Amino acid sequence: MRDFVLPVDPPSIRRKPFVELLRVEGLTRHFEQTAAPAVQDVGFSVGEGELVALLGPSGCGKTTTLRMIGGFEQPDSGRVVLRGRDITDLPPEERGIGIVFQDYALFPHLSVLDNVRFGLRHLGRQAALARAREMLELVALSGFEKRKPHELSGGQQQRVALARTLAVAPPLVLLDEPFSNLDAAMRVDTRQEVRKLLQAAGAAGILVTHDQEEALALSDRIAVMDAGRVVQVGTPDEIYRNPANAFVASFIGRSNIVTGVASGLNADTPLGPLPLSRFADGSVSIAVRPEQIMLAPDPNASAVVVEREFRGHDQLYWVEDGGRRMLVISGPGQPVQVGTRVRLRVCDCVVPLG
Ligand code: ATP
Repeated sequence: MRDFVLPVDPPSIRRKPFVELLRVEGLTRHFEQTAAPAVQDVGFSVGEGELVALLGPSGCGKTTTLRMIGGFEQPDSGRVVLRGRDITDLPPEERGIGIVFQDYALFPHLSVLDNVRFGLRHLGRQAALARAREMLELVALSGFEKRKPHELSGGQQQRVALARTLAVAPPLVLLDEPFSNLDAAMRVDTRQEVRKLLQAAGAAGILVTHDQEEALALSDRIAVMDAGRVVQVGTPDEIYRNPANAFVASFIGRSNIVTGVASGLNADTPLGPLPLSRFADGSVSIAVRPEQIMLAPDPNASAVVVEREFRGHDQLYWVEDGGRRMLVISGPGQPVQVGTRVRLRVCDCVVPLG
C-alpha cells in the first residue's frame, strides 16, 4: 500500500442526498456489421459525486455506452444530459467530461509535471504550475515531477493519468477498464486509491468493468448490462441480494438456479419449502446463493459431495442429487470429504427471478 490516506467514508456508509448530474435516456447504437444493436435503449443516471459501474460480460456494450457519453461515438437515438443540459450533439472537448483511458494515454516524451499541466494552458504559466503540483500532491506523486512515464510503475502512471484528468476539475470522469493493465495485488490497492481521489476531488465517475468483484467493491451503484441492454441498476447490496433475473444472479456472484412452485412468500423446491425474498406465484426459477446452503453429513441422504476445493478462507463443494449439481460455499472449518452423503439446508430467504 502506498503512502497516503484520505479521510473518506467508504461508499457503503455515505448517505448523501441524490442530486442528478448525468442522465442518459434511450441510448441506442447499431453498427452496420452486426445483426443486433451494440447498445439498445440504455438509460440510467449518475448523481453528483457518485461512482457508477457499468458491469457486464465482454461485448455487452459497455465501452460503446461510455463512448457515447464522452462524445466519441454518436448514438442513433437517445440523449445524454449533463446538469440539465442536452450534450448529445457536442464534441468531446466541449462536454466538460474527463476520461481516463485503459492505457492511460500519457505523453511519453513529456515529464510527469508537463503531462498533468497539459490541459491547463488556459490558466497561464504560474497558475497552471501551481494546479499541476496540487494535483500531484493529491495523488501522492510530489517529487516525481521530472520523471517520464516509462520511469513509473503502472499504478503510478494510472495516478498521473487521473491527476491530469482531475486537474481541470471535471464533474464527471469516465474510466474504461482502468485497472486492467495492473497485476492483481496492485489492482486492489490502486482501485481504492482511485475511488478516494475521485471523492477528494468531488468528481463523479462511470467505471466500465467486466470484473464483478471490482464493481461490488468500489461503486455506489451498478448498472448491469447484458446484450446491449441495462438489465438492472442498484446498489451493490441490492444487486447481490435481489438480482432481477437469472443472468444477474449468475453474473454477480454465483447462484444455483432451481425451479419451484411459489405461493406468496413461500415456495416448494427440490431443497424443501423455502421462504422467498419477494412475492411470487406459480412456477418460478429461484436463485440460491452457494453460501446460503449448509451441508450436514447424513448416510441416509440422497445428495453426495462430488468435488471439493479448499480456498483458505472458505471451501467450495459441488454436490450432486438426482442429476442436479449444486455449488455450496462453507467456512474453513472441518472439511466434508468427497463421497460423503449430505443433507442440504438453506438458511436464508431465496430470490424468485423475473
Ligand atoms: P469489452 O468488455 O470486451 O470491451 P464491451 O462490453 O465494452 O466489451 P463494446 O466494445 O461496447 O462491448 O462492443 C459491443 C458490441 O459492438 C460488440 O459486439 C462489438 O464487436 C461491437 N462494436 C463495438 N465497436 C464497433 C465498431 N466500431 N464497429 C462495429 N462493431 C463494433
